[in-house]
Amino acid sequence: MTETGQFLFFTSCLYIIIYSLIICTVVVALPTKPEGYDLRPGAADAPFKIALFADLHFGEAESTEWGPLQDVNSTRVMSSVLDHETPEFVIYLGDVITANNILIRNASLYWDQAISPTRARGIPWASVFGNHDDAAFEWPIEWFSAPGIPKIHCPVANSSCSGKEDCSFQGTQRLELMKNEIELNTLSHSRYGPKGLWPSVSNYVLQVLSSEDPKSAVAFLYFLDSGGGSYPEVISGAQAEWFRQKALEINPDSSVPEIIFWHIPSRVYEKVAPKFGIHKPCVGSLNEEQVAPQEAEMGMMKLLVERKSAKAIFVGHNHGLDWCCPHKELWLCFARHTGYGGYGNWDRGARIVEITQKPFSVKSWIRMEDGNVHSEVVLSP
Ligand SMILES: [Zn+2]
Repeated sequence: MTETGQFLFFTSCLYIIIYSLIICTVVVALPTKPEGYDLRPGAADAPFKIALFADLHFGEAESTEWGPLQDVNSTRVMSSVLDHETPEFVIYLGDVITANNILIRNASLYWDQAISPTRARGIPWASVFGNHDDAAFEWPIEWFSAPGIPKIHCPVANSSCSGKEDCSFQGTQRLELMKNEIELNTLSHSRYGPKGLWPSVSNYVLQVLSSEDPKSAVAFLYFLDSGGGSYPEVISGAQAEWFRQKALEINPDSSVPEIIFWHIPSRVYEKVAPKFGIHKPCVGSLNEEQVAPQEAEMGMMKLLVERKSAKAIFVGHNHGLDWCCPHKELWLCFARHTGYGGYGNWDRGARIVEITQKPFSVKSWIRMEDGNVHSEVVLSP
């Protein structure tokens, strides 16, 4: 290693140690919010419309000039969709930020930018985590200017940086991101989920209540953390068991329809994916890449296909896919890449999900940034 190399290496190590010390002093004290939040449609028989914002990737390429401009563009997409659709609710479907590009202490600053168009319009929302939201910071290779100096991987063997703790800069953790969202926003309906499932955090359920009878649920919206970043890309057996028990508790006879939201597609998405183009019974406009599924299937899908009340699953993650395909009685849907951050240059938009109360139905379509609408599909009954 050259002298310059040694110097850069040493300063990098110092950087990591300082950040580790800062992080170690942060204790996440979680506020307690009541277990259940109810969502009520406005007028009687009015549909309940939800906009899905998927893969915004705020903070991408933070250290470049063009990176921050992507966030301005993503804000414009969300504003356009919200103004065209005026939804009752918004769901942030993961990869809200690209944490692996964000070096600042608190990535919630970017998270806050991402939710601001929704908050500014007084629309309530909920969020789930994607694989980039608490991904570990990746040192840009161009920061190491001398040729031949490799990117730092932690822990570094045979170096003056000793111990794993010196290399523990992990950005802003899921719990802290969620704490900041919930504490600072009365419109946020997001939850930490049961402690027993941590570090898988965004596991919770909301109910859409009837406008005529505020005690009866029109639909249950389930949110699950499909991992990635600080832990594997799976929905674990423990999460599946939580869902099973919760559904048994609040919907024992499966009389209320259930709609499910998470970030990374299940493995069964690969099976139903159209081979070329998009043809019936699938509906959509983008089929431009392979499904990038979770690492394993640990029981969640088996539970869902066996429940007649489970109607549809919505995921993000694949920016080049926007289809819905049926799988047995269930619909498997991709959202639409909303953000200018993240890979791919396909036109941006958002999937809309509309729940009608009487008779019950779920309809979906995609609203593009330029206002166009396409890919309308009735998912239930
Ligand atoms: Zn993404």
